[in-house]
Order: sequence, then C-alpha cells, then structure tokens
Amino acid sequence: MANVIVIGAQWGDEGKGKVVDLYAREAELIVRFQGGNNAGHTLVVGGKKTILHLIPSGILHKGKTCVLGNGMVINPRVLLEEIDKLKEEHLFADDTNLFISERAHVIMPYHIEIDGARENKWGCMKIGTTGRGIGPAYEDKASRVGLRMADLINETVFREKLRHNLEEKNFLLTRFFGMNGISEDAVFDEYSRYAERLRPYITDTSKIIEEKICHGRHGLFEGAQGTHLDIDYGTYPFVTASATIAGNACTGSGIGPTKIDGVVGICKAYTTRVGQGPFVTELFDEVGERIQKTGQEFGATTGRKRRCGWLDMVMVKQSVRLSGITGLAVTKLDVLTGINPIRICVGYRCGGETFRDYVPSDLSRFKDIEPVYEELEGWSDPIESARSIGDLTSQSRRYIERLELLAGVPVNLISVGPGRDDTIILRSPFS
Ligand code: GDP
Repeated sequence: MANVIVIGAQWGDEGKGKVVDLYAREAELIVRFQGGNNAGHTLVVGGKKTILHLIPSGILHKGKTCVLGNGMVINPRVLLEEIDKLKEEHLFADDTNLFISERAHVIMPYHIEIDGARENKWGCMKIGTTGRGIGPAYEDKASRVGLRMADLINETVFREKLRHNLEEKNFLLTRFFGMNGISEDAVFDEYSRYAERLRPYITDTSKIIEEKICHGRHGLFEGAQGTHLDIDYGTYPFVTASATIAGNACTGSGIGPTKIDGVVGICKAYTTRVGQGPFVTELFDEVGERIQKTGQEFGATTGRKRRCGWLDMVMVKQSVRLSGITGLAVTKLDVLTGINPIRICVGYRCGGETFRDYVPSDLSRFKDIEPVYEELEGWSDPIESARSIGDLTSQSRRYIERLELLAGVPVNLISVGPGRDDTIILRSPFS
C-alpha cells in the first residue's frame, strides 16, 4: 500500500490530468484536496476529450473511490452538471464511488458576483482570477462565515447562515460595487434543490479515506493549480486562494503526513502561465508563439491564451524543496520538437547575486531579474511514438537527463503526446 501526492511544479496546467489518470489505474482511492472549479483537467481517452473541473479524473476508471476533500470549495451547480455529463456519456456508473466532504465549503452566488466585481473595479491591479468565486469562498472560510456541505443539507442552518451572509454581501454588492442585490428566497430554493441531489454523496470523507488506507489500497491525492500559485509560496498576490503544495494534501483530506509515501511533481517541458504576475522566462517571439500553438496552450477553464516561455528550473527546484517531491513527471516533451536550440533557465541573476533554487518573495525584485540560460541542442525527429527512454532522440534524452540533474530528483514518467499511451513510464510512484 502506498499513498502518493501529485502536484503541479509550475503555475498549473502542467498536464496533471493525464498523469493522474494514468496513476489512477494503480490507485483505488483518488482524492482532490484543494481548489474548486478554477481548475480543469483535460483528459483524452480513446481519442475523446473530457474536461473535469471538480471530480477527480479517477472517476473515469471503474470501481475507484473518488473524494472531494474538505480543503475544496465547491459550486454545487457545476458539480451536478459534471455528474450529469459524465452519466450521459456513461463514464460514471456507480454513485457509491463518489464522496463529498461535509466540511468542504460551498461557493455561493454572492462569491461569484464579488469575484467579478472586484476584478472589474481594480482594473490594472487585478489578479486575473477565473471569476468563479473561489477566492471569496475561501475568504468566508477564514472569516468563519462560510457555508459548508453539512450546512447545505440542513435546511434550518442553511436558511439562517444564508440570511446572515446576504445582509453583509448585499450591502457590499449594492453600496460598494453599485450592483444588484441577491434574493435570499431565490438562492435558498435553488440551493435546496442542489442539496437534495448531493445529499447521498456528502459524508465525513476523512473516515472513508482512512478505511481505504487501512484496507491496504493505493491512494492518490490530486492537487490542482501549481506550486507557484500557492497562497503562501506562489508569486503573491498573483496566486490562487488555497495552498497548492503537498503539505496541504493532508490538511485538505484529513489524513496525517505519516501516511504519505511519495510526492510526484508534474513539470511541463517548458513553462506557461495564465493571467497576471511575473514570469522570468516568458517568450515574446516566434518560439513562444510556436509553443503556444503546438502545445495548444489555452486554459481548460477559461479558454484564455497562456503565456509561454522556457523551462525554469529555479522554480522547479523551489517546488522540489517546498513539497518534498520524490520524482518528476515531465509532460509535453513533444511540443519542443523542431525548436533549436532549446534553453533551460538555471538561475536568476539579480543585483549582483545569482539564485539557483530561490524564487524571491518580493515581486518588485522581478523587474531586475535576468534569467541565466543553458543552451541545449534541439531535435527535429518526432518523438510521439517513443515508449521507452531508448526510443527518444539523443537530444531529447539529454534534455531529460539535464532536467533530472538540475532538479535533484528522478524523472518517473515522460509524456510525449496527449493520449494515455503516449507515455514513457520509468518507475511507478507506488512501488
Ligand atoms: P492540467 O490541468 O494540469 O491537466 O493541464 P491542462 O488542462 O493544460 O491539460 C494539458 C493539455 O495538454 C491537455 O489538452 C492534454 O490532453 C494535453 N497533454 C497532456 N500531456 C501532453 C503531452 O505530453 N503532449 C501533448 N502534445 N499534449 C499533452
């Protein structure tokens, strides 16, 4: 039995969906521990694309237990739409395989309104959130006024907490943002319908996880976004509202750190970022455009074009440290085919100093940072059909070896295309 955490080592969108889907074959328990429908995992199964925003991608495998952990913030409407769509496509047959934590927070209509209103009001100061109400829902959690799944299914408590919240939220919406207020009855009726449908899935998921672990099953703890969007360690304030590093897998699922056996960091062969914030290796030339087009770098949730740049190993090394990453999964190596030379950022030069494993917390320093690059020879032969390391071109192999050496941890998996089979598996994180 082994429990493995999978997290993004960059700014999210590293291709976690595909890797989690592959690892889910070995695990019997798949848990999401933070975030909400600001994440989107794109999976290609049998040539068919499925995008999941809330439900762990393990649901696509029969007989797996999938958990939405207490660290998540959940929009019930979006979750039900996802359940319905999966059912329509015959991808989710057994309701008893899905569990929602009674402690997970509920995203309410006022969270979404406030999120959008703030981004509009602050213009150039905006964070570039996905506008799904994630941040405001986490704010309410910290302010201890949030509504949890357990409240949603208790009519009396739900009505009372909703009323209390709307008094304040409607004041903010109407008086500060100049918007329309939200009707208590309309929200109550709508959310009561959601509550009835979600009730069978809502439970104490920490206990479910413990039972599975005690029965010797492999567990997979799936993070959303990436390390550098972490609320503490990301490029604050251009970060997400939750902790994305491995430590939060325990807090957000209700298990102890002593139960964890390994941490896989997903690292795209180059870097991308959605929204605002510093990006040291960003490319503004035709190479950046080529990566964006070949890599289809559009957000799964928002459809926004992603900013693209060279692989930044300073970031990745910091991720290895913060999450205790034990192995990397490198994705989208095929996207670099035809680019020559290829650069890897191995340091940040800043005010006479060079950092090799430290991303400054003071954003004002970023304007003076010069990336230190190493140049590697590119390759032109396609690598999509490679299924073992020996099938790769010598240059692409060298790229992986260099990455491994710089990160200081082994590469467990190399993804060379979007399909499940387009993968070189070097070692299982569960063994
Ligand atoms: P996630 O949220 O971390 O899963 O990342 P994305 O939503 O950006 O998903 C990654 C996208 O890249 C999806 O469309 C995948 O099908 C695709 N993808 C994943 N791995 C590879 C790969 O190795 N090569 C290519 N070309 N595409 C990939």
